Amino acid sequence: MWSDSEERRGVPPDGQFLKDSPIKALPPEKLGLNQGGYGGEGVNPGPFLDNLSRWAARHAWEEKQLALDAGSEASLAAFTKRRTHAKASVFLSAGIHGDEPASTLALIALMEEGGLREDFNYTIFPCLNPRGMLKRRRETPEGKDLNRDYLHRSTLEVQRQLEAIDSWHPFDMALFLHEDWEAHGFYLYELMDASSTPVLGRSILQAIRGHVPVESASWIDGRTACDGLIAAPFGETQRKDWPEAFFFRHRGTPHCLTLEAPSDFPLKDRVHWLKLATRAALASLVDPAIGS
Ligand SMILES: [Zn+2]
Repeated sequence: MWSDSEERRGVPPDGQFLKDSPIKALPPEKLGLNQGGYGGEGVNPGPFLDNLSRWAARHAWEEKQLALDAGSEASLAAFTKRRTHAKASVFLSAGIHGDEPASTLALIALMEEGGLREDFNYTIFPCLNPRGMLKRRRETPEGKDLNRDYLHRSTLEVQRQLEAIDSWHPFDMALFLHEDWEAHGFYLYELMDASSTPVLGRSILQAIRGHVPVESASWIDGRTACDGLIAAPFGETQRKDWPEAFFFRHRGTPHCLTLEAPSDFPLKDRVHWLKLATRAALASLVDPAIGS
């Protein structure tokens, strides 16, 4: 899974980003902090989001603060960038689970560091569960798992998000950044109809292999996995607890990918891996053979 020969594979022809990433001879060791749940450091997303607001204003991104509750200051931050002649329109979100702070930090870093390719339009929610992240817990303070609420939409977070983007569907791609406290390596879900086969997920994993430790388990979270890829069936009538990806697929987004970094590693590594995978995913939209 992590050999010299593999480390030299998978550099996309159009991308410098993987060439520049440090290549390690061995994968980092797990920290051993995740015992029955995420045990790593927590992150207060507030200062990072405040900084992102200032950055967005300087770089002509549009920002919306969506109030979650009239009686509190809690809000959801949404950022958009529209360009004439954009090749594609992409939705990205992170921090839907408050115990997955690297997802939010990675997405913010990609924006501020110019890591998002400039020929796409973007709609970005860098922290969908800011109140949960403040408490380092997966759910909202009310105990709701937002990523199970996209059919019934009982939470203000999901309601505000979907109201804000209602007129912008469909996107060409939707990427959902997550972390998994139990995982040993990076993996992703590619959502698909029963009759289709994975289109981009395998290319993305191939591109990052050697730069990111990829999960080798053949069974992840109750699903069959192959070299870090879970081909997740989209059965909208079979599930009542729709995750975010189901909603976007339901609204016509053809490529819905959930990126999962293993969270029992140093935060800076997890952020780095999510950044690489996100960039590879964006590149795959214009070059589906990125990893070959
Ligand atoms: Zn998650």
